[in-house]
Amino acid sequence: MSSSKTLLITGVSSGFGRALAQEALACGHRVVGTVRSAEARQSFEALGATHAFARILDVTDFEAIDGVVAEIEADIGAVDVLVNNAGYGHEGVMEESPLEDMRRQFDVNVFGAVAMMKAMLPYMRRRRRGHILNITSMGGFITMPGIAYYCGSKFALEGISEVLGKEVRPFGIAVTAVAPGSFRTDWAGRSMVRTPRSIADYDALFDPIREAREKKSGRQLGDPLKAARAMLAIIDSDSPPSHLLLGSDALGLVREKLTAAAAEIDTWETVTRSTDG
Ligand code: NAP
Repeated sequence: MSSSKTLLITGVSSGFGRALAQEALACGHRVVGTVRSAEARQSFEALGATHAFARILDVTDFEAIDGVVAEIEADIGAVDVLVNNAGYGHEGVMEESPLEDMRRQFDVNVFGAVAMMKAMLPYMRRRRRGHILNITSMGGFITMPGIAYYCGSKFALEGISEVLGKEVRPFGIAVTAVAPGSFRTDWAGRSMVRTPRSIADYDALFDPIREAREKKSGRQLGDPLKAARAMLAIIDSDSPPSHLLLGSDALGLVREKLTAAAAEIDTWETVTRSTDG
């Protein structure tokens, strides 16, 4: 590790957020983590009396975010790295899934992350340094049936991250969208929101997908602690990437998608070019 930093990580009660916080603390960094209950707050602060600080925040409490960030900057100190990790997966066939479920998915995974960035940026811009990590997903590049709202939210966060990176690079602020494959967290377990089935036409396509995801939960390929180490390496880097895939499943699927996309672009090139002039 090069120097001790202060990280602000949303959602440190479990999964990637917890693993990253633990690894960062072990490396001598200070971590401010957001949680959603008094129990989670206590459990997080128990990780290190002088270096682990918890704040209660639901990232959809948009009115509260600016105040929480201001208080952290004033009482704990300058935040060097913001990690927008808080998020969850919605699973459901699109036609069956109420718009309400989509709004909630975007409120947490997209609007919450953007609100955090908007609250942090004035401080980072003033200091002319900072790093923002947005935890997206391989589902921000590739898609599969049954997670339209989730993929939509992660595609959105990938796009927003990339644009923001271009806007704030002149101020010495880096933005990295971190896209993990399947990891052993609570994502497909207690955290997942599953819309109940209602249209029999989708049974053959979707039932096996839902069943397979439930069975695989807890046995995914990726180790969150290893993801945490990879993220700490990115945080330490002098030239962090704008996108980072984590896991060989993500690597394979995203490469496949890019190859197929390039082939489709070639197939339709004449039509594409026909609209000029
Ligand atoms: P997790 O173990 O379920 O952790 C999710 C964390 O986000 C929890 O701390 C949770 O807090 C918090 N959170 C959820 N909604 C929130 C809200 N409205 N406000 C504040 N905090 C909230 O799952 P995880 O896999 O570590 O998820 C972390 C991120 O990784 C998510 O953005 C997820 O989409 C992404 N991701 C996961 C995988 C995977 O395979 N695991 C793959 C790609 C991307 P509570 O304990 O209070 O619910």
